[in-house]
Amino acid sequence: MKASAFAYARATSVANALELLTAHGEKAKVLSGGQSLLPAMNLRLISPELIIDIGELAELRGVVVKEGVLTIGALTRHADLLKSPEIAAHAPLLADAVAHVAHPAIRNRGTIGGSLAHADPASELPACMLTLEAILIARGPSGERRIPAAEFFTGIYQTALRAQELLVAVELPVSPGSSTHFFHEFARRHGDYAIVGLAAQAVVKDGRFADLRLGFFAVGDRPLLAGAASKLVDVAITSGILSEAFSALDEELDPLEDQQATPAMRRHLAKVLLARCISALLGRPDLLAGATA
Ligand SMILES: Cc1cc2nc3c(=O)[nH]c(=O)nc-3n(C[C@H](O)[C@H](O)[C@H](O)COP(=O)(O)OP(=O)(O)OC[C@H]3O[C@@H](n4cnc5c(N)ncnc54)[C@H](O)[C@@H]3O)c2cc1C
Repeated sequence: MKASAFAYARATSVANALELLTAHGEKAKVLSGGQSLLPAMNLRLISPELIIDIGELAELRGVVVKEGVLTIGALTRHADLLKSPEIAAHAPLLADAVAHVAHPAIRNRGTIGGSLAHADPASELPACMLTLEAILIARGPSGERRIPAAEFFTGIYQTALRAQELLVAVELPVSPGSSTHFFHEFARRHGDYAIVGLAAQAVVKDGRFADLRLGFFAVGDRPLLAGAASKLVDVAITSGILSEAFSALDEELDPLEDQQATPAMRRHLAKVLLARCISALLGRPDLLAGATA
């Protein structure tokens, strides 16, 4: 199948893109790397009347570190994130996660802004944004809005972005030098969308978590920052404490059924990931034994 007929405009500046969005609103769609938009149009899941191509807007591309904040332009491609020394040094969790987004050909075109605006609940990067306490910066006709990641993802392919807004950048606090991270996803093949995944960051002191943030993906209609983490902070982790965290996590999950997995399988895999994460971050292989029976 091919897309319905549509008009095409190449934005010459951010201001020009915003003018076009203001004029056309819901009838228009922004085109960044096209790796999700074009397949959706070809399947006729969406049929915008106008495509606003922002791909040439160099001002929206790049990574800058200043005063403890990492700012990533919305048009920064996945491949650029993978190569970026700033991301490797200051957001190593993100560097690990991007390597799991699709395949090299898609990473060469796909952008962080496109991935976040698309808001697929099985995507890696939205969960990383929750874990890393990102602020997403949207620009619209009435100026700029700074949206915490926790408020940005509102459902399957749904975000807090308004039809006339452009996502222009993401800000992340530089990860503390004392932090450590864990990223893993279950997928049928490397590069496929995850069946269930976990992007975690922690600070460990004297064998305990001083801080722990658990960003799960593909466990519901949006990424989840698991409150179950609170059961694991400032305590000596025993199998009993881990069981409590499993129960708390189970309460929070609302997994969907699709051709990849049943909700029960996703619940099980989320707990397997939690056990692996805690065991790896604390260097405690004993916590794996029987943890998810
Ligand atoms: C075979 C295949 C496998 C894939 N596997 C994965 C995977 O494992 N994990 C994963 O996360 N993704 C995967 N993807 C999807 C893809 O990597 C991302 O969704 C893609 O990178 C989105 O970025 P983009 O720049 O291509 O966005 P586009 O396709 O250009 O846009 C996506 C959506 O976001 C909107 N949008 C784009 N940029 C902006 C902006 N700056 N402001 C406001 N709205 C905007 C568009 O209007 C559109 O609705 C896969 C895609 C394919 C084709």
